[in-house]
Amino acid sequence: EVPVICIDGPTASGKGTLAVEVAHELGYHYLDSGSLYRVTGLATRRKGLEPEPAYEAEIAALAETLPLQFVKGKVLLDGEDVSDAIRTEAAGMDASRVSALPAVRAALLALQKRFRRLPGLVADGRDMGTVIFPEARLKVFLTASAAQRAERRHKQLISKGISTTLDSLRADLEARDARDSSRSVAPLKPAQDARRLDNSQLSIAQSVEQVLNWWQE
Ligand code: C5P
Repeated sequence: EVPVICIDGPTASGKGTLAVEVAHELGYHYLDSGSLYRVTGLATRRKGLEPEPAYEAEIAALAETLPLQFVKGKVLLDGEDVSDAIRTEAAGMDASRVSALPAVRAALLALQKRFRRLPGLVADGRDMGTVIFPEARLKVFLTASAAQRAERRHKQLISKGISTTLDSLRADLEARDARDSSRSVAPLKPAQDARRLDNSQLSIAQSVEQVLNWWQE
C-alpha cells in the first residue's frame, strides 16, 4: 500500500511549506490540492462565469476536464503558466467559492486520488484526511493564530511584488476560513484521528521535525 501523509488546516497556516519539506525529506510526491480549486476558479472566470451555485454544473464540467499540468513546481493551464495568477487573494476567494459546490468537489476527487503513487505522497489541503485519504496513517491538522497567518501571507505577497495591507489580508483569510468551515460538503475540520500542530511559535524546521517524528513512531 502506498503511504500517505495528510496535512490539513486553514488558510496560510503554512501547510504548503511544511508538506513540500516533508515530501522532500522522505522523497515522496506532493499534492497541493488547493491549486486544483484555484485553477478551477481561474478557468471559471476565463469562461466568463461567476463562481456561483447557479453555474455549478458548468464549473464541475470544467473541473472534470481541466487541461492541467504540474511541471517543475509550475502549474500549467492549457500550457500557460498560471502559477502566479492563481496565488492572488482574489483567486483564493474564487477557489473557496467553487470549492463549496459539491459537484466541483466530486469532479476533482479521482484526480486527487491519482497523486497517490510510490514511494508515497504528502497531500495538503482542507479535506485530505477527512475525505480524500481517510485511510492515511498520519494526518496532521496544522493551525496558527490569525495574526501570524496574515503576517506570513503578507510577507509572501510582498516578496512577489504584490501590495496589500495586513488588515485586508486578515479579513480575507478569516472570511475564507469561515466559508470553508461552514460549507455543507467537506467542511474544514480536523479528522478524528488527526494530530494537531500549532506552529505559531515554531520554525519550519521544527514543524518538519515534529511531523517526521510522528511518521516514524
Ligand atoms: O490551500 P489554498 O489556500 O490554496 O486553497 C484555496 C481554497 O481552496 C481554500 O480556501 C478552500 O476553499 C479550497 N480547498 C478545499 N479543499 C482542499 C484544498 C483547498 O476546499 N482540499
